[in-house]
Amino acid sequence: MSQDSDLKKEEIVEKVASGQLKLHAIDQQVGPVEGVAVRREAIARMTGTDIQNLGSFSIDAAEVVGRNIENMIGAIQLPLGIAGPVTIQGEYASGNFYLPLATTEGALVASTNRGCSVISACGGATVRIFKDGMTRAPVFSARDVIHAREFVDWLADNFEAMKAKAAETTRFGELVEATPFVVGTDVHLRLRFDTKDAMGMNMATIASEAVSNYITEQFGIELVSLSGNMCTDKKPSAINNILGRGKTVVAEVVIPEDLVGAKLKTRCQSMSEVNYKKNLLGSARAGSMGYNAHAANIVAALYLACGQDAAHVVEGSSTITTMEMTPEGDLHCCVTMPAVQVGTVGGGTGIATQQECLQILGVAGAGEPPGVNAKKFAEIIGVAVLAGEISLIGAQSAGHLARAHKQLGRK
Ligand code: NAP
Repeated sequence: MSQDSDLKKEEIVEKVASGQLKLHAIDQQVGPVEGVAVRREAIARMTGTDIQNLGSFSIDAAEVVGRNIENMIGAIQLPLGIAGPVTIQGEYASGNFYLPLATTEGALVASTNRGCSVISACGGATVRIFKDGMTRAPVFSARDVIHAREFVDWLADNFEAMKAKAAETTRFGELVEATPFVVGTDVHLRLRFDTKDAMGMNMATIASEAVSNYITEQFGIELVSLSGNMCTDKKPSAINNILGRGKTVVAEVVIPEDLVGAKLKTRCQSMSEVNYKKNLLGSARAGSMGYNAHAANIVAALYLACGQDAAHVVEGSSTITTMEMTPEGDLHCCVTMPAVQVGTVGGGTGIATQQECLQILGVAGAGEPPGVNAKKFAEIIGVAVLAGEISLIGAQSAGHLARAHKQLGRK
């Protein structure tokens, strides 16, 4: 770096530190890439910290600034482990898969790996998607109940026109459903979109704005907010659990009694009982919205590794896990995930390290036909969560939980 540019950098850092220049204005002075280092230096000076590790990263700042992040000062790192292979028999994911898991929880990768090994020894898990569609729900305010009722009738008659308006905003997204929910004189319109390989939250929001503008122009009703929270994004909600959001995924495997004994050191009956008393009864008594052991653990680790919106772990935690004895005395294990919101394009999926994790799963980028990569990814997530549930319930059934954490989670 030249002396001139060093001087300029120092001047900017001083201006920021003395409050003369705002953090976000740095990029205009030195560009987005240099701006990262200058801003980091300013923060280090203002907070009296040594934060040089935040400056070690491979992310292309020019790509992410303005697209994925503002006021960038560097990157944090998480250890990345690998579990698997796990055999999957899905409609889109078929074969053996290695799962990239980003976590700091010792024992999580080992535990998931054990579940993968059990599933593979059974010949693989079956998985299917039952519903697909990202939602956004604008809220409109009618004059009175009669006006609200007229609006609901109008919506039913004008779906095709709304669909056409949405289509003007995207090459890939498609409006597939518009369901009104009335509260007094407010009408929440839950719009559901097929967003193909995108998780679709931006896509659905942009399309919803076009649809909402059309509605206000054509019907004459006030739009209160582009999101009225019946979407529901990033909050635990019964509506997502009941109607689904993103992909509704169900994965299953039947584990023979001898395999439960050999690999999990317990018995089918015992696992079934632990699952019933813990995941079902305990969760019900606790008023939990998740009837599972630790689905969020696997969802979080996969989402972080693969550039997904981490806030959608909320919906991943709503998984229902069942473990039932078969007439033959084996164990039927199943996870039902009502709302898996994932994409293989857009959001954080383009960042090089996250992109490489998607490559490990064979789902990076746009699928052909569009949508197949995101569906494949959702199926893999379903089976990964199943692996995690089998391993943890197995451990609790065998009384091994504390031992694994003592051995693997502590030094
Ligand atoms: P996006 O990057 O905004 O949209 C996906 C882009 O990929 C679109 O431009 C789409 O084209 C293009 N595309 C190319 N091939 C595609 C294929 N095969 N399938 C689908 N799209 C394809 O991403 P997004 O998934 O809609 O939004 C994800 C981001 O939204 C995340 O960063 C998330 O954190 C953020 N987010 C936003 C909101 C919000 O309210 N806006 C809320 C929560 C999260 P077209 O332009 O032709 O459609």
